[in-house]
Amino acid sequence: MVEISVVVPCFDESEVIDAFHTALVAALGATGATFEICYVDDGSGDRTVERLRGLAAEHPFVRYTSFSRNFGKESAMLAGMRMSRGSVVVLMDADLQHPPELIPRMMDLHRRGYDQVIAQRDRTGEGVARAAVSRAYYRLVRRFMDVEVIDGAGDFRLLSRRAVDAVLSLPESNRFSKGLFSWIGFDTVAFRYENVERAAGTSKWGGRRLLNYGIDGLLSFNSRPLRMAIHTGLWLFVSALVYALWIIGNVVLNGVETPGYATLITAIVALSGVQLATLGVIGEYVGRIYHETKRRPPYVVRETDASAGAPRAGAGAGSDAVTAGSSRT
Ligand code: UDP
Ligand code: MG
Repeated sequence: MVEISVVVPCFDESEVIDAFHTALVAALGATGATFEICYVDDGSGDRTVERLRGLAAEHPFVRYTSFSRNFGKESAMLAGMRMSRGSVVVLMDADLQHPPELIPRMMDLHRRGYDQVIAQRDRTGEGVARAAVSRAYYRLVRRFMDVEVIDGAGDFRLLSRRAVDAVLSLPESNRFSKGLFSWIGFDTVAFRYENVERAAGTSKWGGRRLLNYGIDGLLSFNSRPLRMAIHTGLWLFVSALVYALWIIGNVVLNGVETPGYATLITAIVALSGVQLATLGVIGEYVGRIYHETKRRPPYVVRETDASAGAPRAGAGAGSDAVTAGSSRT
């Protein structure tokens, strides 16, 4: 019976994976619990998979799944949680930004009855601009989203088995896990730690990627943008009505005037703008529906520790005959 499963999504992390693995094993060993480490290679272009193969061959408690291409961190975390067998699951990054030394503390809090333990980083050492943008985003999210998302609460967290099962039972393919974790509920506790710089390699989150991630988060958890479109429409309708009454009153009192060209153009342009924006919002939702109805698996597996072991054992089927297709549990 495995007590702790650690799920680690890795994308182009060959520079840091060994250092990370050593630190993690040291921290896990100190807890005295039985553990396994589930690495998920998210279609890395560097030597990450080779390293994972090596680690899995060396240690019985290391398992891995490797994707056929880059499917994104959300899919990697999903695959890792599906793989995990422990009675608690810890999700963490491979770049040592999530200090493994915090795991005993998380276990402690879990033993006190919490199903979700969030390690929440502060923003020391982060660019001023990025910190400000993140803060503004979280303020926006808190106003518009139906689930609560905490600033600085990344994906470094511990989940109990029943919380993991709850997350895995959600069928959507457009996964915004910060929202999913909050949606499932259960007793949750957060504690702060000081932000750590990446040990090596570079962050894969550029400005545009972050922006799209932000939009995803806002849209995938509510239909409030649609509500806003309805409100805008109602307000415009009411003001148009008032304006019309005012014009009629004016005609009755002062006789017919030549109407203004400027007023007309302004109204047309403003209204078309509102309509286009609304259409865009609707389009986003329709796109999401389209995406969900295709029912594609969130990732495709190229190899796992089990499949990589098979050819070596003399199956001789050729390394390209390993598990293609989605892995479901
Ligand atoms: N990651 C991933 N797939 C991706 C991008 C990132 O699995 O497409 C992993 C990456 O290997 C790391 C974690 O997600 O373990 C966080 O990535 P990163 O450090 O680049 O993000 P940041 O810490 O800057 O938010
Ligand atoms: Mg990082």
